[in-house]
Amino acid sequence: MSTFNALPLTKAMIENLDTLGYHEMTPVQAESLPHVLQGDDLLAQAKTGSGKTAAFGIGLLHNLNVKLFRVQALVICPTRELAEQVAVELRRIARFKHNIKIVTICGGVPFLPQQSSLEHQGHIVVGTPGRIEQHLKRGTMNLDNVTTLVLDEADRMLDIGFADSIEVIMGYVPKTHQTLLFSATFPKPILKLSTRFQKNAHRVIVDAEHEENVIRQYFYKSKEDQKPAVTAQILATCKPASTLIFCNTKLQCRSLAKFLEAKGFSSLAIHGDLEQKDRTEILVRFSNGSSPILVATDVAARGLDISELSTVINFDLPFESEVYIHRIGRTGRAGKEGMAFSLMAPGERFRLEEINTLMGTAFEASDIKELEPSTEKSAPPMVTFSINGGRKTRLRPGDILGALTGDAGIAGSCVGKINCFEFYSYVAIERKMADKAEKALSKNKIKGRHFIVHRHE
Ligand code: ADP
Ligand code: MG
Repeated sequence: MSTFNALPLTKAMIENLDTLGYHEMTPVQAESLPHVLQGDDLLAQAKTGSGKTAAFGIGLLHNLNVKLFRVQALVICPTRELAEQVAVELRRIARFKHNIKIVTICGGVPFLPQQSSLEHQGHIVVGTPGRIEQHLKRGTMNLDNVTTLVLDEADRMLDIGFADSIEVIMGYVPKTHQTLLFSATFPKPILKLSTRFQKNAHRVIVDAEHEENVIRQYFYKSKEDQKPAVTAQILATCKPASTLIFCNTKLQCRSLAKFLEAKGFSSLAIHGDLEQKDRTEILVRFSNGSSPILVATDVAARGLDISELSTVINFDLPFESEVYIHRIGRTGRAGKEGMAFSLMAPGERFRLEEINTLMGTAFEASDIKELEPSTEKSAPPMVTFSINGGRKTRLRPGDILGALTGDAGIAGSCVGKINCFEFYSYVAIERKMADKAEKALSKNKIKGRHFIVHRHE
C-alpha cells in the first residue's frame, strides 16, 4: 500500500484527502496518478468502486490554475447520475483550495441556467456528451483552455451510442491536451477510441476482483408467488445494513417494495419511469442509510455507485448468467465480505446451471426452511430530511451542519451525509436525534432564511 505522500502533491491536498479518510491510494490511483500528474495520456481499466474518480480528480485539481477563470478540464460521463456523482467527489477533493468552480452540464435539465453558470466560467466541467455538444454548437461553452479531457466509463458511453458526440467534442478541444480514458472493460472499440485520440497512452489495468472479493452466495428454491415472503424472510434473518434487490420487471420492483414496506422493511423501488428528482431522492436515502433496501431492475441499477453494499438479492434469476456476476459484484467490495441470495423458481434450474458453468462453481439451491427469521424489527439507523434550498440558492453542506450543531445543539457525530443539489438538499440524522433535528430545521433559520423541511420515512 502506498500513501498519497509518495506523490508530488501539496500539503493542503494531502491534508484534505486525510479528512476524507483517504489515507492510502487504491491500486488504480497508485498506478494512474503519477502519469496523470505528469500530464501524460492514460488508458485505465478498473472495476466499479475502485476509486477511479480520485485517480483522475486529484491530478486534475492539482494541475489547475485557480486564478484562470476558464474551463481547464472536461470530464465526460455516460449518464447524468454518474456526472453528478463525479462532480460530488471532485468537489470533496477540491476543498483543499478556495474557489474552485465545478459545473455540471447534463441533459434533462433546463438549458438556460447552465448557460449562465458557464458564463461565470467554471474551472472544471463535468457532463454528458449530448448536452456538452449542444453547448459547444451554440457557442455557450468554450474549451480553448482545456488541458485535460477525461472520458469516464468510456465503455458505457460507447454502449449508449455517444461515439459521434465524443468525436464532435474532441474537435473543440485544443490539439495538445491530456486525454484520460477510464473504463471498466477493454473491448475493441475502446482500444480504437484510444488509438484515435491518445498519444503513447500509459496503460493501467487493475483487477482486484479475484484477490479481495469475498461474496458468499446462497440459492433458495421458491415458488413464484412465494418469492416476496421468502425475500422478507432473508431480510429478517440476515438484517443486512444495505440491500439491493434485483427484479426482472418494473412492475415487480414496485409491488415487491410495497410488500416489504407493509412487512415493516423500509424499502424503495427505482425504475426507469421515475422523475429525475425522485430518482435522486431515492438514491440519497439509500446511500445515507435511512432506507436500507432498494429494489431495482438491471437497467435502473446501471451506473449506481453505491459503496458498502452488504447484500444483493436476486428476486429473479437474470436471463443471462453474465448479468448474475455483475449484480453480485456490487457487494463484497474493498475487502469487505458481501452476501448474495438468489431465488430460484421451479423450472429455473437451468439458469443456476448456466451460472455454475460460467463461474466454475457447483452451487445447489436449498430449501428456505434453513433460514430462521428473528422477530425483532429494527428501524433504519438514519432518517432523511429534505430542504428546499441548494447550491443555486447558496445553501451549502456547512450551513446545514451549522444549523444543526449550532443553536440546535445536535452533536456533529449524529449528522450523516449531506447532499446539496442545485435547488434542494438532503441531510441524514441519527434516528434518536431526528425529532430534535426536525424541530430545529423547520423552526430555526438556516443562513438567515426559513426553509421548508420534509421528513422522509
Ligand atoms: P469508481 O469510479 O472506480 O467506480 P469511485 O471513484 O466512485 O469509484 O470511488 C468509490 C468509493 O471509494 C467512493 O466512495 C470514494 O469516496 C472512495 N475512495 C476513493 N479513493 C479512496 C481512497 N484512496 N481511500 C478510501 N476511499 C476512497
Ligand atoms: Mg466512476
